[in-house]
Amino acid sequence: YFVDPDLIGSHTITIVGDDVHHIRKVMRFRPGDPVICCDGRGTDYVTAIDTIRTDEVVCRVVEKRPSAGEPRISVTVAQSLPKGDKWEWVLQKGTELGATSFVPFVSARTIVKWDAKKAEKRRERWMRIVKEAAEQAHRGTIPEVMPVADWQMLLSRAASAGRAMIAYEGGGQPIQQVLAEDDHSSFMLIVGPEGGFEEREVWEAEAAGAVPVSLGPRILRTETAAVAMLTAVMYASGE
Ligand code: SAM
Repeated sequence: YFVDPDLIGSHTITIVGDDVHHIRKVMRFRPGDPVICCDGRGTDYVTAIDTIRTDEVVCRVVEKRPSAGEPRISVTVAQSLPKGDKWEWVLQKGTELGATSFVPFVSARTIVKWDAKKAEKRRERWMRIVKEAAEQAHRGTIPEVMPVADWQMLLSRAASAGRAMIAYEGGGQPIQQVLAEDDHSSFMLIVGPEGGFEEREVWEAEAAGAVPVSLGPRILRTETAAVAMLTAVMYASGE
């Protein structure tokens, strides 16, 4: 469970909020049962439940250790917002695979219509999905989900990334080749919408420093491309 660092003492940790319901009613834990807590900053705490109350669970710290599930590289997955629940699937799988943050953006062929108000509402849901996936994957931090960016904002993020790559089925070097010659520790992966990128967008991304990469001879769905790209980077970096 991710716990507010302010509720982590040297000997005990207090769990509050929705996680108390999960402990009591879903997992039906008892005093003495083991629980792994995480401060969301890369440290895990092995604990044993001491007291279970209706609004809090107090755990006794047994051992403190670096979170094993946290990669040493930082990878941002930037995706042109796809239709339906594909983005939520990318958030969940991307968190399991080790993504550090997610940037949804709008590009020329993005099908869904987004306004800032609607996006903020959905963002709370997205952050819940990421938190649950991070707990399930024993991550040490909860990846960030940034507000929906427009194309120019996306380009400026790409310019400040260590190694930005734009997935482009119309050209680009094989991703495994780019990664073989790369020793960056921070990456930004840019993936287009169902209708793909306009050629102009690929040029602009390249001008901003993003390398166009191919993910192979087959045309992947947008959600598959995001996960395939992230997997390639994680495994090439030994994460
Ligand atoms: N232009 C594609 C077509 O002809 O059907 C549609 C775009 S594809 C469904 C969605 C996105 O996934 C693309 O914008 C690209 O970012 C990525 N993608 C899919 N297959 C890829 C590949 N083989 N190499 C690089 N990127 C790919």
